[in-house]
Amino acid sequence: MGTWDYSVFWKETVSQLKSELSEQEFAMWFNMEYETSGDQSITLSVPSAFYRDQVKQRYQGRIEGKLFDLSGQHIGIDFEVRQRTREEAHKGPSKPVSTHPNETVHAGPKVYSSPRQTGGPIVENHKAERDSHPQLRKDYIFDNFVIGENNSFAANAAIAIAKNPGVAYNPCLIYGGVGLGKTHLMQAIGNLSWQEKGCKIIYITAENFTNEFVEAIKNSTTQNFKNKYRNADMLLIDDIHFLQKKNETQEELFHTFNALYDANKQIIFTCDRPVSELKNLSERLRSRFERGLNVDLQPPSYETRCAILSKKVETRGVHIPQDVINLIAKNISSNVRDLEASLTKLIAYAELTKKPVTLESAQQQLRDTFGSPKQNNVTIETIQKVVAEYFSLSYTDLKGKKRTKAISFPRQLAMFIAREITEYSTTELGMEFGGRDHTTVMHGCQKIEERLKAEPSLESTIQKLTKLIKDYNS
Ligand code: ADP
Ligand code: MG
Repeated sequence: MGTWDYSVFWKETVSQLKSELSEQEFAMWFNMEYETSGDQSITLSVPSAFYRDQVKQRYQGRIEGKLFDLSGQHIGIDFEVRQRTREEAHKGPSKPVSTHPNETVHAGPKVYSSPRQTGGPIVENHKAERDSHPQLRKDYIFDNFVIGENNSFAANAAIAIAKNPGVAYNPCLIYGGVGLGKTHLMQAIGNLSWQEKGCKIIYITAENFTNEFVEAIKNSTTQNFKNKYRNADMLLIDDIHFLQKKNETQEELFHTFNALYDANKQIIFTCDRPVSELKNLSERLRSRFERGLNVDLQPPSYETRCAILSKKVETRGVHIPQDVINLIAKNISSNVRDLEASLTKLIAYAELTKKPVTLESAQQQLRDTFGSPKQNNVTIETIQKVVAEYFSLSYTDLKGKKRTKAISFPRQLAMFIAREITEYSTTELGMEFGGRDHTTVMHGCQKIEERLKAEPSLESTIQKLTKLIKDYNS
């Protein structure tokens, strides 16, 4: 041993990369440690297999290039997965504490006020069989979460976090449209960490967090409130978009965040859009949300939708023919919750009538869920045609991509009306309006709402248009 020692080259490589990458990127990925050198190779340890695969993909070539430039030799890198304990992670030499210059960095061990926490890592009762966690749904576990191309990055990151909370990806933000599995994934992390480590987990929606905080102010119990949240080992806050405009709650969450983050406690958020698209959020809280790992959930492909439905059928222990599963998957594309709702409807009907589900009965049962005319026989196409005609625009322009002012306003108005009088989701509407993102639709509707406040006459235009739309087919 000791024949080879390339550690100086490694150190220099790291310091060069540190100056080349953004702070956030460096802090996130350069959480590897030098272990040993071998013949033309360096072994680094990383906290998880997921982490290793990501680092390989992102940086292996670049790191080896640097090692070559520095040493003049072809030095390869090998990875070793070694789950560090929380304590090691605290004091680990490559823990990127110094990479947030704007933060107060405590060089020594973190002083943390929870009595249970003083002087050691949390107690990890591995084998103990635990009752289910009171705030987490029992069925929101990884075993019930189907991984497809739309969510594999998020799901693998989630598993890595659950296995090693507070170490590698902290905080983590999971974002994506309605019904795509954010809550399921977040609670799956909680459930697994709870089962395996028994750490103190708090799950709460941003809405309830706000309500509790308001109650605490009212009853002068804010200190209890603070203690409760700042003593968690893992804090899961669902749907943070709700915090927009809630300034005092944002402030409180900011301090909670800092306390937990400084103590290497895992924090996970979900949001219905990327944080950059949230409005009325303090800059400092935004920067906390954006720190760490941000992963998104996309709508599932047809194959993944079929797999999800099959999984649900299996867990419910019922029989649904494959052609019925395919039928549902074909007709509902943007939201897993809607997929499930169709299935539930069929199962309920079958139980009620004591008849098996067949393709014919399913088609009949789900006709109104599937068919384009969702409500009052109004289709998006009708709305687009009527609005285009009213503003003397072409229908193609209205639903197309042009972004001139003359088109943008009528288009936003059409989106707004579609939101009001149909059941289409913003994702579905986005697709019908030139393949746009659901956030564009939300933004459009928001613009109209703002204008309505300033311009009451717009209300009567909307009413006129709505009437024209409803009368269109008669
Ligand atoms: P969100 O919080 O993003 O609105 P949820 O987590 O509530 O969505 O998910 C909606 C429903 O869809 C839940 O019943 C959940 O179990 C289910 N679901 C979403 N994604 C998946 C998946 N990949 N595999 C299995 N079920 C899923
Ligand atoms: Mg949710």
